[in-house]
Amino acid sequence: MKRIRNWARTTFCRSKDIVYPRSEAEIVDLVKLCNENHTPLKVVGKAHSYNDIFCAGEEGVVVSLKKFSSVERVDRENATVTVQAGIDIPTLIRRLKPHNLSLKNLGTNVFDNIAGACSTGYHGSGIDFGIFVSDVVSMEVVTPTVEKRRIGREDEDFKAYAVGLGMLGIIVRVTLQCEPSYKLEVIEKQMSLEEIEARFSEFMAYRHFKFIWVPHTRNF
Ligand SMILES: Cc1cc2nc3c(=O)[nH]c(=O)nc-3n(C[C@H](O)[C@H](O)[C@H](O)COP(=O)(O)OP(=O)(O)OC[C@H]3O[C@@H](n4cnc5c(N)ncnc54)[C@H](O)[C@@H]3O)c2cc1C
Repeated sequence: MKRIRNWARTTFCRSKDIVYPRSEAEIVDLVKLCNENHTPLKVVGKAHSYNDIFCAGEEGVVVSLKKFSSVERVDRENATVTVQAGIDIPTLIRRLKPHNLSLKNLGTNVFDNIAGACSTGYHGSGIDFGIFVSDVVSMEVVTPTVEKRRIGREDEDFKAYAVGLGMLGIIVRVTLQCEPSYKLEVIEKQMSLEEIEARFSEFMAYRHFKFIWVPHTRNF
């Protein structure tokens, strides 16, 4: 029995096993085997979820793609990158840097796994941006019925995968639209709620704007 907990250590679960496939063929074999044995299977990213959504139950198996995490292709002309789904966001940013490319928009937590971010509606701030997955060109998935599917953002069920929570199969590969590297100046300030309200339109004109409320105070 293996114990698995979320990053914040607020929840944990036990599963029969945690497996770390190194290739797509191993992922396909695992899904087949679990199907044959009626074993519940769930995929975990970086376990940054606040709950145990990545758990498979005590009779189940959890799969992590952290050993299937290479950058497969950088297309500089079209500014796209194709990665194996186990890669995490900081590693991808580092790999894109020599190509003068970067990701468009990130959340507060930049340590997620790409496929985790693509399955949860993960988002950053900025009124002109969609959620993270809106920069995904396509995803390749091994479905629970062991079919290999390519889901492009033009496909009807793309939005279902964008919040799939690991229920629609294992995302094995992601192609992302990037943009040329850029620098951001970060301004952090403590403000009263009154000031935020008064200057809200001004703040919304920034590329990004977020505020965090300190509970039981009027300051943000
Ligand atoms: C400190 C902190 C700050 C945060 N800030 C933000 C923020 O700014 N914006 C925001 O939106 N969220 C934020 N979150 C929430 C969290 O970052 C997101 O939910 C994130 O998407 C989780 O990614 P993960 O890789 O940890 O996924 P996990 O928690 O491991 O898994 C999440 C779901 O994705 C599924 N999944 C993982 N890999 C695959 C795969 N290969 N194929 C199919 N399904 C898969 C899992 O089965 C599970 O259902 C924050 C969390 C923390 C702890």
